Amino acid sequence: MADETASPHSWRPRRFMVIVGHPDDADFGPAGAASAWIDAGSDGWLVCCTSGDAGGEDPDADPLLLARAREEEQRQAARVVGYKGVSFLHQPDGYLVNDVPLREMLVREIRTFKPDAVLTGDPEVVIHGGGGINHTDHRAAAMAAVDAVYPAARNPMAFPWLTRQGLPAHHVRRLYLMWSNQPDVWIDVSATADRKIEALRSHASQLHDPEGVFARVRERLAEQGARIGTAAAEGYRLVVFEQDPEDSEESAEVEEGLTAQEPKAR
Ligand SMILES: [Zn+2]
Repeated sequence: MADETASPHSWRPRRFMVIVGHPDDADFGPAGAASAWIDAGSDGWLVCCTSGDAGGEDPDADPLLLARAREEEQRQAARVVGYKGVSFLHQPDGYLVNDVPLREMLVREIRTFKPDAVLTGDPEVVIHGGGGINHTDHRAAAMAAVDAVYPAARNPMAFPWLTRQGLPAHHVRRLYLMWSNQPDVWIDVSATADRKIEALRSHASQLHDPEGVFARVRERLAEQGARIGTAAAEGYRLVVFEQDPEDSEESAEVEEGLTAQEPKAR
């Protein structure tokens, strides 16, 4: 398996949403692919379920001050990547649970931005392939995102008050699960690896050895790039709900400039 070279994944959403637990997850996660898609004309939106208010070592620190600092760091990183905007759901760091209120918040975000694709963690990962534990907030955010995408966002009878508020059901067509133990597509991020590092640099409160961290991130990107014969890549576990007939791998590029900003009605 390791000696097989896959092809770079070339499908691109017109609109995508990244849903993560903490500020900095999106930049350790899909910042390379997000930057590449945005450069190619996609619109992206970032949702952080918590503001990272437990991301420190000092029990006497004011968590609200830390949350404010980390939101500003994430906004700076989001500008580097080029997202249209960031939503903070202000759930408590370390206590995130995939419950109905969180799912409703995510459905509201999805029905508002109407992404074709959602990028989030792989909720099935408790232990990473490398041996580390997948943080409880990462798992909760990922599971809530998956449950919000399917079936809640697309079911008019799920959270019907949202429909009555002008947010009708929306069909997300694809899920890209990051940090998976079973990636099956690799997106070429050779052109945006530097931008991912720049985005990561924004998270100063979390970087005690920035150059060491960046070196490990670059090493990981290169390892994944080797899977598809490029200098750098990010791997994802892909879930396709709806493969439209016109969705050849190149359709987004072909239709660039001809399509409306809003996804097709269905
Ligand atoms: Zn995190």
